[in-house]
Amino acid sequence: MRAYKSGPQRKGAMSEKDNFVDNGSLQTGRIHSIMSMGGVDGPGIRCVVFLQGCSVGCAYCHNPDTWTREGGDLMSSDEVAQKVLRYRTYFGKNGGLTVSGGEPLMQAAFVSELFGLMKKEGISTCLDTSGHGCTGEKLAALLKNTDITLCDIKFTSQEDYKRYSNGSLDVVKNFLEEASKAHVRIWIRHVVIPGITENEEGIKRLVRIAECYEGVERIELLPFHKMCIPKYEALGIPFQLADVPECTGKRIKELQMLIPEKYAGG
Ligand code: SF4
Repeated sequence: MRAYKSGPQRKGAMSEKDNFVDNGSLQTGRIHSIMSMGGVDGPGIRCVVFLQGCSVGCAYCHNPDTWTREGGDLMSSDEVAQKVLRYRTYFGKNGGLTVSGGEPLMQAAFVSELFGLMKKEGISTCLDTSGHGCTGEKLAALLKNTDITLCDIKFTSQEDYKRYSNGSLDVVKNFLEEASKAHVRIWIRHVVIPGITENEEGIKRLVRIAECYEGVERIELLPFHKMCIPKYEALGIPFQLADVPECTGKRIKELQMLIPEKYAGG
């Protein structure tokens, strides 16, 4: 069995000690970048704020430049909110703000405050997360200000989580439980990787996980691709899945057939 845990970010499971700390009346976040208008990160047209910092270390991560917790621009929640509000006329009925990463839960207090500012303005809030990085009261506070979450279930077994990341299926399940209890709309995402997650049994397991939680509206399969390789090369980090073929759109369609119609919505 090939060992994949050789990446520089995979030095141990992440804990809440990894979280960014607030140090003032307004929360400050580390921002990787802001995309003014996106159409694939939640419902409608959305401004997408990508945060810096992630310790989950997925073998197929396409944003290794977001892993470090030292990079990015420091901005207050209000500064980010003002930038987002410039685009509000484009959001329409369904759009709004999506916070992505990196891993947004690592900056939960900042995201919670930013989402709170959005809610005051009537802007929809969407959290794109792996479900790792924050639990308990901090997570509950953030979920109170969250309308919808795009939750990436990276793998459908604890073994695969351990083999290909620092993450844990139990941690993701806890996140889904809390999101469900908070009546957050849930869209589940799952990357289909040939030879790893590209199998019918795994997709059936994914559906069984989804069925445990109220609020799941959608299960979306995404194809594994290798467009990220230049980023790994620039950072001098080996890409662990370089020899794995990309997943085809045809295969995604075949596997999507295993997902009940009720999860096609959202
Ligand atoms: S959780 Fe997301 S950002 Fe973090 S390593 Fe995995 S794919 Fe990359």
